[in-house]
Amino acid sequence: MTAADEVVTLDRKGDIAVVTLDNPPVNATSAALRAGLVDAIDRACADAQVRAIVLLCAGRTFVAGADVSEFGKPRAEPTLQDVVATVEGASKPVVAAVHGTALGGGFELAMACHHRIATPEAAFGLPEVSLGLVPGAGGTQRLPRLAGIATALSVIVEGRRLVGEAAREAGVVDALATGEESLREEAIGFARELLARDLPPERLVRRVRDETAKLAPDPAAFEAARAHAAKRLRGQVAPERAIACVAAALDRPFEEGLALERATFRELEAGPQSKALRHAFFAEREAAKVPGIGKDVPLRPIARVGIVGAGTMGAGIAMAFLDAGFPVTIVEAKEEALGRGRGTIEKTYAGSVAKGRIARGEADARLGRLATSLSYDDLAAADLVVEAAFETMEVKHAVFQALDRVAKPGALLATNTSYLDVDVIAAATSRPQDVLGLHFFSPANIMKLLEVVRGERTAPDAVATAMALAKRLRKVAVCVGVAHGFVGNRMLARRQAEATRLVLEGAMPWDVDRVLVAFGLPMGPFQMSDLAGLDLGWSRETSKGETLKERLCELDRRGQKTKAGFYDYDETRRPTPSPVTEELVLAMAREKGIARRAVSDEEILERCLYPMVAEGARILEEGKAVRGSDIDVVWINGYGFPAWRGGPMFWADETGLPTIVAALDRYAAAHGEAYTVPDLLRRLAQEGGRLSDR
Ligand code: NAD
Repeated sequence: MTAADEVVTLDRKGDIAVVTLDNPPVNATSAALRAGLVDAIDRACADAQVRAIVLLCAGRTFVAGADVSEFGKPRAEPTLQDVVATVEGASKPVVAAVHGTALGGGFELAMACHHRIATPEAAFGLPEVSLGLVPGAGGTQRLPRLAGIATALSVIVEGRRLVGEAAREAGVVDALATGEESLREEAIGFARELLARDLPPERLVRRVRDETAKLAPDPAAFEAARAHAAKRLRGQVAPERAIACVAAALDRPFEEGLALERATFRELEAGPQSKALRHAFFAEREAAKVPGIGKDVPLRPIARVGIVGAGTMGAGIAMAFLDAGFPVTIVEAKEEALGRGRGTIEKTYAGSVAKGRIARGEADARLGRLATSLSYDDLAAADLVVEAAFETMEVKHAVFQALDRVAKPGALLATNTSYLDVDVIAAATSRPQDVLGLHFFSPANIMKLLEVVRGERTAPDAVATAMALAKRLRKVAVCVGVAHGFVGNRMLARRQAEATRLVLEGAMPWDVDRVLVAFGLPMGPFQMSDLAGLDLGWSRETSKGETLKERLCELDRRGQKTKAGFYDYDETRRPTPSPVTEELVLAMAREKGIARRAVSDEEILERCLYPMVAEGARILEEGKAVRGSDIDVVWINGYGFPAWRGGPMFWADETGLPTIVAALDRYAAAHGEAYTVPDLLRRLAQEGGRLSDR
C-alpha cells in the first residue's frame, strides 16, 4: 500500500495551505488518501500562519470516485464519512479546485468543502445507483441543500452529470476558472478574495449541511424521478431507496438524513443487486483483456472504413463509424439498395436533429464523410472493410474474393455474419491473418455490444486492433471464438427452441414473454421475433408450413411490420394476444399428438434460462469464450439481460449450480437430450465452483 504522505502533500503559499491529492490514475479515495487528507486538514488548521485551505488533485482529474474494489469489503479507517466530516468541520475555509470528473465520493468530498471553483470542463456526478447503491458520504443530503431537490434527484437517480457552466448555474460551484493550467492559481486567488472580505473566520466557512434556502418541497421532481426509475431502471431497488434518502433531506434534520443514507448504503452494499452490478462493472473492464495479446502488440492504424452492403446492418454500421468521426465508403451490388441505405442514414440523422440530440451542422458533417459506390475499387484506400451482405456462404465468398483483389495490404477484412464460419470465409482470401468477425447488433449505431470473432488464423495484431477500435466506437467488445452463432446467438437459439416447445406443451407465447419480462428482460422471445420480423430467411415458395413461424408468415402475419405476428398490433404498435395465434398453437399441438397441460411460470423460467446456462458452460468448455464473465457482458450489452442480475452466468452462480444441474437432469429425463448437462457445469456444481469467474 502507498504511504499517506506520498498520496497527499501539504504546501503553503503565504497564508494559504494547498493540499494536493495524487493517487493515479484517477485519485480514487484509497485508505492512504483518506488518512493523508485528514492529517493534512488537521495540520493546516493547526498551523497559525494558515488562514485558508485549497484542496486540489494532481493528474488528469479530481477524485473520480471511491475505489470500486473496496465495495463489499470492510473499509480501513478513516472512512470517507470521517474524511468528509473533517473537511466540512474544518475551522478555516476550504476551497475545492475541481478539474476532470468529480464523481461519487469525489463529488461528495467537493460538497464537504466550503467553496468550489471548477474548470469549464469539470463534470460532477453521483453514479452510485448504477452500481445498485446510494451515495454513501452525504451526497443525498448535501446535494439537495446545494442545488435543490429537482437537480439532486436528476443527478442521483437519473445519473445526470453537471458540467462546468451547468454546475455553476445549479449552485454546485461558486466560480469557474479559465482552464486547467491556471486552476491552482485561480483557486488560491479565490481564497485570497475570501480572506480580503475581512470577516470573522466562521463567516467564511460555509457549511452545506447548514444551508436550507433550497430545501423546498417539489412533488413534480419526485414524480419525474420515479417515472424515470420505472422506465429505465425497472426491477432495481436502489433508485427508490435513493429517492427516500433525498426525501429525508427535506423532512429530517441533517444528521438523521445522514444516518438513513448510511444505513441504506450498508444494506444495499450487502444485497444481491449491488453485488451483481459490481460484477457487471468489473466484467466489462476485464472483457477488454484478451489473453496472449498484451499492450505491446502494435495496433494497425485505422483511418478509413469501407462497408459492403447498405441493408439494415450496413447502414447501421456505417452510422456507428460516421458518429465516431471515420470517413466511410459503402459499396453495394444494387443501385437501388445503395439509395435506400443512404436514405436510412439521412433519415436517422434528420430525426436526431429534430429531437435535439445533435446539431444540424454535426449531422451535415457526418453525412459529408459518407461516400457510396457500386465498385469494389473504391475500397482500395480502406484500412478496414466490414462486410454486411446477405447471409449465405456463396455471397460471403464472392465478397471476400473481391476484397482480396482490391484491399490494400494489411487492411482488416471483417464479416458481420451472424452464424457462418469465419474460418471458411477467411479461406476465400489469400490473407486469412487479416480476416475476423465484427459482429454488430441491430441497430448497430445504438447497441453497445461488439463480438470480435477471432478466427483460427486471425493475427494477434488484427484482434488487438479490433478491440481498440471498439473503444473508439464506444462499443463494448468481447473476443469470442468461431462457433455457430458465436456466444450470444448460440445461447439465444437454445432459449428460442425451449420457448417454442413450451408453447406446444401448454403455454401461450404471451405467457412465456410475460415471465421473461417479469424476470427483467426488455422483451420475451415472441415479442423479439415479432420485432425482428418472422420472415427472416422465409419465402412463400419454399415454406414447408412446419413451424408456427412459417404458418404465421403464410397468413401474412410477419410481425410488427405487418401489424400482426404472434401478437396483433394497433396503430401505435401496442400488442395484444392474438386469437389467430392461439388457434394455430392448438391445431399444431393436436397434429403432433401433444396433450397440452398447465405450464407453471416457474417451469417457463427454468426451461428458458437453464438450457442457456448449460450452453454457456459448453461455450466455456470449448474455449469459445475467454471467461465466464465475458458471456455476462455479451448478454447484458447485446440482449438486455438485466445487469442487476449480473448476466446469465453470474445469475446461475447465485441461483446455485447444484440447483440448476438437478433441474436439468429432471428435465432431461422428461424431455430428452436438449437438457444434457455439460461436464464443466456438473464438475463446478460438485466442486462448489463458479461459472462467472473472471
Ligand atoms: P439486408 O438484407 O438488410 O442487407 C444486405 C445488403 O447487402 C443488401 O442491401 C444487398 O443488396 C447487399 N448485398 C448483397 N450481396 C452483395 C454483394 N455481393 N456486394 C455488395 N452488396 C451486397 O441484411 P442485414 O440484415 O443487413 O444483414 C447483413 C449481414 O449482417 C448478414 O450476414 C446478417 O446475418 C448479419 N447480421 C444481421 C443482423 C440483423 O439483426 N439484421 C444482426 C447481426 C448480423
